[in-house]
Amino acid sequence: MSRSVHDSSPQVRDPRAAYGRVRDAHLDAVHAAFEDHIGRMDWSREQIERYRDQRLRALLGYARERSPFHSRRLRDLDPSTATVADLASLPVMTKQEAQDEWDTIVTVPDLDRRAAERILAEQPWFSYTPGGQQIFSSGGSSGVRGVYAWDWELFVSFACLAWRFQAREELRGPPLPRATRLAVLTAGEPPHASTPLFDVATAPGMDTVVIPARAPFDEVLAAVAAARPTHLVGYATVVGRLARAALAGDLELELARVSTNSEPLLDEDRQAVRDAWHVPIHNLWGSTEIGVQAVGCGHADGLHVCEDEVVLERVDEAGVPVPDDEPAARTLATGLANRTFPFIRYDLGDQVTMLPGQCSCGSAFVRVADIAGRRDDDFHYGLCTVPASAFRHVLGTDPRVSEYQVRQTSAGAEILVVGRPDTATLTSSLVAALRRHRLPDAEVRVRVVDRLERHESTGKLRRFVALDGHPGH
Ligand SMILES: [Zn+2]
Repeated sequence: MSRSVHDSSPQVRDPRAAYGRVRDAHLDAVHAAFEDHIGRMDWSREQIERYRDQRLRALLGYARERSPFHSRRLRDLDPSTATVADLASLPVMTKQEAQDEWDTIVTVPDLDRRAAERILAEQPWFSYTPGGQQIFSSGGSSGVRGVYAWDWELFVSFACLAWRFQAREELRGPPLPRATRLAVLTAGEPPHASTPLFDVATAPGMDTVVIPARAPFDEVLAAVAAARPTHLVGYATVVGRLARAALAGDLELELARVSTNSEPLLDEDRQAVRDAWHVPIHNLWGSTEIGVQAVGCGHADGLHVCEDEVVLERVDEAGVPVPDDEPAARTLATGLANRTFPFIRYDLGDQVTMLPGQCSCGSAFVRVADIAGRRDDDFHYGLCTVPASAFRHVLGTDPRVSEYQVRQTSAGAEILVVGRPDTATLTSSLVAALRRHRLPDAEVRVRVVDRLERHESTGKLRRFVALDGHPGH
């Protein structure tokens, strides 16, 4: 159907319809770029590094010329000969700086922080600027509110990174059923980037359905059951809980593939997905700033770093890179595809561990271990530190616990549990686990609740709530 630009029918003025039309064009651009990205998965180390260094030079040269913020920081570097190793001479870029210096970082003339905030405040639904950018916002665990601009090409890059492993497997693997459907469990609404990023079909003829993950679990469960998806993508804890519902006989799905994101994928959730559906799991580690840092291929442990579009540096507290086989304090990321709002040596706040050796999927892209969650998840009692895993090992393996939240108290923890656990046994197991971490006679209270409070707009669950907030910040 053709439509003139002067058409003033209600459909043209409907912001969702207008967004949808530009979005359709954008998704066509994503699908057009898939082939290139899938081809990259077979690149040799040499090809990856050559491409990455060229992209890095392009980014540094552009940022130095067009971003006053980066111009200052890059003044002693010659972009035309720079390599990844030269990044170590540049200062670290913090989340606070990125937000405070917004207007000197952004490289396009028609966009500044005020304009971005106005779009966030006034858009009735997701939207595109006249320049083809999308504006997103997120809270983040550090407590700094972030505002982000994704330009047209950047979104194409992010969507390809998020989905190329799955798309490769759809091409390689056994034929899919004729009708495929992706259920997308995300925030489901602006200003969060998760819905545009994950609501992407990866196979011809696949349709998608977005299910807001923040809804009460019974509603999520009913919506997923009604959608009868062949593919599932969503927050790791929500997908894990759906898998447990399937194991308990409360959900029947014939799935081909599962993708998880936005929260650490805990062992207990991964195992539940395996037991329930016996399908490949593609876990994704990303951020609204850098987009997609690494994705699991579904064949082996860990996540492949998106080295063609992102440079990761594992550094010590002073920002100095550390060898692959030594522990690092922080991870810095440089987003090679982001010309509109360059992030160069950006502190992600996560720690990653490199995995040695070639992956059985054949890709030469290096791998990191699954992101275990932040150190913020550890509980400190005076000089004693109890890692989140102490609780997880007990709570995550009890089949009668479908979901939980651990809240630190001064002498132990209060634990909210959804399910039908034997609270006395659970309590004594937890006290024993804490004793092994040198916290004697902990006061543990287990409370069975109907549901857990999720973040009201993102739907994310904070599994561990420490007394002293975030010791690292
Ligand atoms: Zn692999």
